[in-house]
Order: sequence, then C-alpha cells, then structure tokens
Amino acid sequence: MAKKGGKSVAKKRRRLPALIKDMGACMFKKPFTQQYPFVKVEAPEGYRGRHTFYPEKCISCGLCERDCPANAIELIEVSGKRMPHFYLDRCIFCYLCEEGCPRQAITLSKNFEMSTTETKELLVTPKEFISKPKATSEEGKENVA
Ligand code: SF4
Ligand code: SF4
Repeated sequence: MAKKGGKSVAKKRRRLPALIKDMGACMFKKPFTQQYPFVKVEAPEGYRGRHTFYPEKCISCGLCERDCPANAIELIEVSGKRMPHFYLDRCIFCYLCEEGCPRQAITLSKNFEMSTTETKELLVTPKEFISKPKATSEEGKENVA
C-alpha cells in the first residue's frame, strides 16, 4: 500500500511543471467570460426575448390569446380596441403568438433583461407601444415597462 501511495506522489510531482506552465499561459490569455452587465451583450439572431407589439396592425382577432399554451395573453380593451396584454411571468417564450398572428402585430425582441422581483413589471401592455408606434424588435429593449 505504501508503495502505491509513493507512486501517486511521484506522479503528481511530474505533473507539477506542466500545471505551472498551463497556469502561466492562462494568465496572459484573453478572458473567455464577458463583463456583463458592465458590457452589453448582444443576443443571437432569432432569440426569443420580450415581446414587441404593433397596435396599429392588430385586428383584435384573438388568435394569439387562443393559441398561447401558457395562458399568458389576455385581450383587454385599450383606446376602443381589444388588444393583447402579455404576462411574461407565465410566458414560456415559445414563439406561437408571433407565428400565429395573421398581421405580424407581435414580434419577440432580443431583450433578455427581464429579471425583477415585481410581477407587475412583467406585464407588457399595448399602451407602451401606442406612444412608440414605429417600435422595432431592437427598440423592444427600450420598451421595458
Ligand atoms: S396580436 Fe395578432 S393574433 Fe393577437 S389579436 Fe392582434 S391580430 Fe390577432
Ligand atoms: S411566446 Fe408563447 S407562451 Fe409567450 S405569450 Fe407568446 S404564445 Fe404565449
């Protein structure tokens, strides 16, 4: 048994120079991690983030509400028109509301910054887009409630 332990110590000693060499090399390499949130990170193309809504395109058909598998959409009247409200605390970001909308009134932006302790901040309402009718998926970032 003592012989086995001795072998193992010798093995470890042999690995030490290689380990020190690797450590030295790593110290001068660029870091793999990004300094988020100090440095903004761009989500990849096709990312399903916070919803962007185009009120002027919506025809109040209710398909988004009907198709949502998470029961995260509710049509509520705003400015005389029934429009979807999105409850992101229930949303599973499946994309079905965007795919099913016959008027392309919903798009999912690349905005992934939705962490909050307030449930009410996870409600996306048409009102926030009525004042910014030309919102794009990129601008969805600015439309955080
Ligand atoms: S957002 Fe699209 S699917 Fe939903 S009610 Fe409006 S038009 Fe219909
Ligand atoms: S992304 Fe999916 S779960 Fe979220 S609101 Fe749209 S249909 Fe519902």
